[in-house]
Order: sequence, then structure tokens, then C-alpha cells
Amino acid sequence: MKIGIISDIHSNLEALQTVLEKMSSVDSIICAGDVVGYGANPNECVGLIKDRGIQCVLGNHDRAVLTGDTSWFNPLAAKAVHWTRNALHNECREFLAGLPEKFTFDFDFPLLVVHGSPMNPVEEYVLEERGARRCFEATKQEIIIIGHTHVAQSFSLVGVDPVVELRLYKNGGVLNLGGRTIINAGSVGQPRDGNWMASYAVIEGRRAEIFRVAYDVESTSKKILGAGLPQFFADRLHAGI
Ligand code: ZN
Repeated sequence: MKIGIISDIHSNLEALQTVLEKMSSVDSIICAGDVVGYGANPNECVGLIKDRGIQCVLGNHDRAVLTGDTSWFNPLAAKAVHWTRNALHNECREFLAGLPEKFTFDFDFPLLVVHGSPMNPVEEYVLEERGARRCFEATKQEIIIIGHTHVAQSFSLVGVDPVVELRLYKNGGVLNLGGRTIINAGSVGQPRDGNWMASYAVIEGRRAEIFRVAYDVESTSKKILGAGLPQFFADRLHAGI
């Protein structure tokens, strides 16, 4: 069995379409949240996730779009949340409202999927070893899938007196799954690790691979400007920040 992992699409239709084309041979796709926010195609992105039967958790932007509560967002991100809230069709809102904060998936080994962390599934950022260790301590599953940071990275517990080993995948890479591991497949629609190309992962047996793929970023950024969304959201896509 082969599963695809995506996260943080953020209403970027061109990136999502490109990644889904690349994953045509997988048996199942999992999404670690934030389907909407920042970009100009929230309905189209929710529609694709729904139509493809992609299992998805709720992200912090998805939740803010549902509730309208932007107290934890910077002013530009809040603007995008309110724009999305207005643009979103009812059936897409219902889909987002039905997303769980976490779920487990029976693969060759048990997987736990959250947007942020197992302790705080929607909000918490896991970027360094200390946070990763707390995730391992709070759970039993061998593999934990996270998103939220927009950085493709993994944390593995290695050794007898285990230490947390952090790896980054700015240009993709292969990870052999020998023990407990946290995988962040990076962001499909707004990577922030210095590489503008869409990020995603494929797991098959004990092997995970993170891929980076070019997409039509010009179209995406033109649509953001055309929708009256902040220019920063168009500019940052080209820089991968
Ligand atoms: Zn995000």
C-alpha cells in the first residue's frame, strides 16, 4: 500500500492540482489540514479534497474561516480569513465543519494525523527537537503526521537512550522508517523553507519520500492580486517564505 501525504494547501489550486497529478499511483491520500486561507481558490481546493475522498484534519485557518475568530492571526492573515469566509460556498463550509481535529489511520503501522501537535491538534507549532519529544511522549503511534509549519521535516527517535534526530527536506529526500517518526510533508500551497516548489510525501512500506514539484506560481499569484488579497501573499509564493 502506498499513501500520499499533503498539508497546508491554502487555497492554491495550481499547486494542489500539480501535486495530485504526481500522486496518481497512490492508494490513499491524507491531508494534515489548512485547505483554505491566503489564496484565491478556496472552493475549488475544498471541492478537490472532497471529490478525491482525501482524509483530512482541521487546520487553524480552516477553523478561523468557520468561526470568524482571528484573534491569533496577524492583520494580513486575518484579512485573508475574512475574504475566504465571504467567498466560501455553503457545501464547502459544511465540509470543513465536519473535519476532525485528529484521526488514526491503519497503514502497515499505526499513523496519527494532526495539523499542529498531538497535545494541541490545531494550534501548536512543532519546529524543533524539544517539541517533537513531547509529541512522542504524549502518543503511542509509531508514525505521527503533522503540518502547520510549512517546513518539510522529520523527527526520528534513534538509539537505545533515544535522541530526537531532525532532518529537513528543502530539496526533497528519502527517509527510512525504522522506528517512531514524526513526518511533516511541508506545504503544498505556501512552502516557507526557502524553496517555492510545492511539497508532499509518499509512504510505501518502510520508506517515505518527500518530493518538491514546480507548479504554475504565476497564475496563482495573479489570482491572489486579482481577488484583492494582500500582495505579500502573492510575492512570498515566489520566494518560498
Ligand atoms: Zn498553514
